[in-house]
Amino acid sequence: MEKKATKKLYGLIQMICHITGLALKKSPGMFLLFFLFLISAGVCTAGNVFFKQSFFNKVELLLQGKGTIGLALGSGIAMALFLIGVLVIRALNDLIQENFSMVVKGHLGKSLNEKAARIDPIVYENNQFLDHINKAYVGLEAAVSVVFSTLEIGIQEIAYFLFMGCYFFSIKPALLIMFGLSFLPTIIGSIIRRHMYAKMENLSAPYRRKYEYFEKCICTREYAKETRLWKAEGYLKKLYQDNLGTYTKLRWKTTKHSELMELALRFFLLSGYVGTIIMLFYYLFQGEISIGAFAAVFSSLDQMFDRMEGVFNYQIGNITSNFGAAQNYYAFLNLKEREGKQKERLKRERLELKEVSFAYPNSTKNALENVNFTIDKGETVAIVGVNGSGKSTLTRLLMGLYLPTKGKILIDGKDIKEMAPETLYQGISAVFQKYQCYKMTVAENVQLSDAQKTEDIKEVLEKADFPLENGKFIDGTETMLGKDFGGIDLSGGQWQRLAIARGLYRAHDMIVLDEPTAAIDPLEEANIYYKFAEISKDKTAFIVTHRLGSAKIADRIIVMDAGRIVEMGTHNELMDKNGKYYELYQAQAKWYR
Ligand code: ADP
Ligand code: MG
Repeated sequence: MEKKATKKLYGLIQMICHITGLALKKSPGMFLLFFLFLISAGVCTAGNVFFKQSFFNKVELLLQGKGTIGLALGSGIAMALFLIGVLVIRALNDLIQENFSMVVKGHLGKSLNEKAARIDPIVYENNQFLDHINKAYVGLEAAVSVVFSTLEIGIQEIAYFLFMGCYFFSIKPALLIMFGLSFLPTIIGSIIRRHMYAKMENLSAPYRRKYEYFEKCICTREYAKETRLWKAEGYLKKLYQDNLGTYTKLRWKTTKHSELMELALRFFLLSGYVGTIIMLFYYLFQGEISIGAFAAVFSSLDQMFDRMEGVFNYQIGNITSNFGAAQNYYAFLNLKEREGKQKERLKRERLELKEVSFAYPNSTKNALENVNFTIDKGETVAIVGVNGSGKSTLTRLLMGLYLPTKGKILIDGKDIKEMAPETLYQGISAVFQKYQCYKMTVAENVQLSDAQKTEDIKEVLEKADFPLENGKFIDGTETMLGKDFGGIDLSGGQWQRLAIARGLYRAHDMIVLDEPTAAIDPLEEANIYYKFAEISKDKTAFIVTHRLGSAKIADRIIVMDAGRIVEMGTHNELMDKNGKYYELYQAQAKWYR
């Protein structure tokens, strides 16, 4: 238990060092301003006690007939002016803090996105990882809140309490001890609370992710049509409510316990408050303190108890309840990345698969089983087979997105495991089966695949058979797409052609087309493949298709079945063989007559 607490404290210190270090490095001027205002807000708020004491002393003198109205009034005005100054400083402090925390969140978000981009794509196939990334984004907000609260306590509140502590001590040391003791139970309570909230965050995150997903299924545009047609709202709503219910219940349980504990702690605090006031009266009647000192302490007590309570019940509470979530941000930043480091540019003369098997995470069945073949630069290879035979999986391994779980993939004789991912992806292009429809302009949709290139995109749009019909694309290639940001929507076939254009645009030595024409009708498809064969003459190309008619353009055809290569050869060779390919071809031949 103690070890765990030390570890957490160490984690908190690391978090503070990391975030303040980052803030100091990226925005030093703003950090300095933030720091100065924190200190001034603390010291000035406390400093007011001297003005109070002096004012009450002057009033006492006036009542005893020893002072003048002018002196008392002057002292009162000085106190009021100082108070106004404190208010202004505190308002500015809040403003700076708010602004600075946004800036810091921006810096942290950048690290998070960069990390997400470096993570091995296979990790995204793991359900738990989705929890991780979701928790990391929540954790980012939490981490900023933790660090800002800690800095506020560490700088502003400590400055305030040091000042007040010295003042109390100078009046009566016993007052300080009494005040300190009444807070002891609160400190212990805050430690217990930290454990409760960390546990709750870990338990409840999967339910949050689920109910947010079902909410999306009910409310968002992409799901709307299907959901309405199936009349699935009721069913989805039930799933949404069940998960939200469990989530709320888990949170409620923790919050309830935490609030009950707080109630008990407040009782201790109140006893301390009453105790301090009794002591104060005692000293006054004994003549041990002046009326001014009595009034200054008495009128500052409320503020001190409020602030102390703010620190322990709100700020430390905020730190402890957010700390568990904040750690998830760091857990994500520390996730394993791919180990390959080699950075020399690949020539891609030859690609070899040696006894390659592959299983998805959390799956006991191999999606690929003992796959062997060698492809030389310039070859066009078709991969065919029924749904679920492993075609898309094979392309992901060919691109290096996933690494084999068994066996080796070699490029120019070198294992792809040794290569840095960015080197591996360089020179590869693809049209994915589940291509994306980016809510951007036509031009951006294409240029996204190769930021370095500045070539005109008209030519590539033509190759992909994507005509910019007049009337629809009012701004030509600058026409905004997708309804989300006020653009126009495209048909499935048009989006797919755009995905093809995007794949062709990227500079490449090797290209993978995974069923790139599924949403395009067969006649137009033939046209696209014909143009494609021409473009990719000197490049290595893999075309995945379930329409065997299109496979004819390939130099070689790989036939897959249940994760294995069952046949390999040219169209004519495979037809002569009278095997799986022949069978599939015959089954589809009636479409092409
Ligand atoms: P194809 O592209 O030929 O239709 P896939 O490569 O998509 O086939 O799928 C091959 C096998 O791997 C199937 O059994 C499929 O269920 C499984 N599979 C595909 N994607 C995943 C995934 N993300 N997680 C687990 N299994 C998967
Ligand atoms: Mg597929």
